[in-house]
Amino acid sequence: MRRTGILLYLLILPAALCFPQRRGDKALASDEEIQAQSLEQYVHFLSGSRLLDSATNKDAEMVHKVAEKVFNAVRTYYGRKKQSIVLRNLSWDIDLINKKDVNAFCLPGVRIVVGTGMLDWAQNEGSLAVVLAHEIAHTLLGHGEQRLRTALQEQLGGKRMSELLQTRPADIRDVFMASFGAGNIVGLLPPYSPEDEKEADRLGMIFTGLAGYNPRESIVFWERMDRLSRGPRQPVLMSAHPYADERNSAMQEAVDEIVKTWYKQPGKS
Ligand SMILES: [Zn+2]
Repeated sequence: MRRTGILLYLLILPAALCFPQRRGDKALASDEEIQAQSLEQYVHFLSGSRLLDSATNKDAEMVHKVAEKVFNAVRTYYGRKKQSIVLRNLSWDIDLINKKDVNAFCLPGVRIVVGTGMLDWAQNEGSLAVVLAHEIAHTLLGHGEQRLRTALQEQLGGKRMSELLQTRPADIRDVFMASFGAGNIVGLLPPYSPEDEKEADRLGMIFTGLAGYNPRESIVFWERMDRLSRGPRQPVLMSAHPYADERNSAMQEAVDEIVKTWYKQPGKS
């Protein structure tokens, strides 16, 4: 009995360690329902977008190249932690769409969409890695799922997602996409909480370092986004990921240790 209990504990522990977060009430939307809805909304979103082909478009080629490095970094991270179970059944999709919005988002299953407007401000591969890593971190930490379940509870009358898909499919689409930072979420949902942001910043910096980009780029990138948000061209990204001094301080505090532990500089073993 006791051995069975320990075995069960060991099997459950890795997932629990990775997902200690507040994932919300699964009775409103199960993990499986969210995964299925992710694929449906992703396909629907792309059907209304102009995709840029990495075989013929230099920017798309770069986005795919950086994404592959970040994807490998995420696999390495969870492999080292002996928590690869977290990554089972992921899709690992990356798409660049012709859209001037300064935004990028990641749906469950790791389905990332980047708008061309983001590239104007990401400016280099390292910055792009920062934003991809940050979006993946939010998704793997369950922040978007929790936002979705909270919205079902508080804004959609505490009804199950499966029921609302029958009666209010357009509302579910808007709330689902907003939960994961797709489009301008102002007026739809509150942004990610300061706690979520700090967690995603930290894990994102680790992924960035493991992908071979300097984690210090994270601080530079978010400071640049913050400056941009004070100008005439509001980055859509900032509607879901508000920047605050406490994010900057937390990153400054963590970065030396993350560089030392996780930064895999290109050309060095
Ligand atoms: Zn964020």
